[in-house]
Amino acid sequence: MCGLPHPDEPVCHLCRPFLPFNKIFCERCGAPLDARQPEGVRCASCQANPPPFTIARAPFRYSFPVDSAIKALKFDGKLYYAPALGRYLSRELMRMPPYVDALVPVPLHRGRHARRGFNQAIELCRPLRRASGLRMLTGVKRVRPTRPQSGLTATERRKNLRGAFAVRGPLRSRYPVIVDDVMTTGETCRQLALTLLEHGAEEVAVLSVARSTSPPQAAAM
Ligand SMILES: [Zn+2]
Ligand SMILES: [Zn+2]
Repeated sequence: MCGLPHPDEPVCHLCRPFLPFNKIFCERCGAPLDARQPEGVRCASCQANPPPFTIARAPFRYSFPVDSAIKALKFDGKLYYAPALGRYLSRELMRMPPYVDALVPVPLHRGRHARRGFNQAIELCRPLRRASGLRMLTGVKRVRPTRPQSGLTATERRKNLRGAFAVRGPLRSRYPVIVDDVMTTGETCRQLALTLLEHGAEEVAVLSVARSTSPPQAAAM
């Protein structure tokens, strides 16, 4: 975060205490909670509208300095944040069900991918693939350009993403893990998980660097 090296950690010992680790969360969807819930009790959102994915985890909450790191990665092309954040993702991946068998980076529509020059989710998958040996599936596409999700209500987000994803060719995974940078309402992951389940996945898990409960203001996602 400050640029000082540390021999074992991706973040130096001075910055580490400031990292917003997501310590208390819904055991189903990973949403940050204020207080620990009794075992088996899920967040209000999961109770009202159970997600199609089995489990979602994020090492961080979407706040400083992780939010700045993600924005720098995404909007300023600071790709060196990907391996650092990937180290924390890898630790979460180890706690996923042992049978997960592939990584699915959330695809960008080709127009946006071309303008940005990279897909941050693919960049985050690279260190995960190296650490875990899991394959990265790239046959999943965003077939419809979607408006940025920020500033939209939950219903608008759902509508915005309907039919957004498609799988090209057979899905060579039964237990894929979706990988993304930030999960907000989870609508992107819900729609992508539904697409994967329609194409033969048995169970879908989700891994994101950071988790926010309310849509972040101003910053375009
Ligand atoms: Zn530091
Ligand atoms: Zn939940």
